[in-house]
Amino acid sequence: MNRIDIIHNLESCLDIQCDDCIQEHASHYPLDCEAYDSFVRSAVELLKAQESRILTLDEIKEGEPYWLEVSGDSIQSVICLHREDDAAKKYMTFVWQYGTSSWATEEYNVGWRCWSAKPTGEQ
Ligand SMILES: [Zn+2]
Repeated sequence: MNRIDIIHNLESCLDIQCDDCIQEHASHYPLDCEAYDSFVRSAVELLKAQESRILTLDEIKEGEPYWLEVSGDSIQSVICLHREDDAAKKYMTFVWQYGTSSWATEEYNVGWRCWSAKPTGEQ
């Protein structure tokens, strides 16, 4: 379920207007509706997916945006332009504020790594 569907479902249920609410004649509160629980669970999954965390190499896809951390301090918004998985020396190329740059995958988690969302200072 995508973000828009989750918001629509939760709002419908809170207004006692989702299909299940109407069928079950849920009268006062969406907790009477059996669908409400699944809508809330979907919302929790969505929020968890938005937490910033360090990605595995396999999760990094061409054309997708990430936050790139280089040498433990600089964090940049980037887009993965290309993964070279077949060459003798595997690497990934990103577009960032300095143009395009490539990093060796064997140095992942040592010299560079990608985050799913902008990490907080503590992370
Ligand atoms: Zn409902």
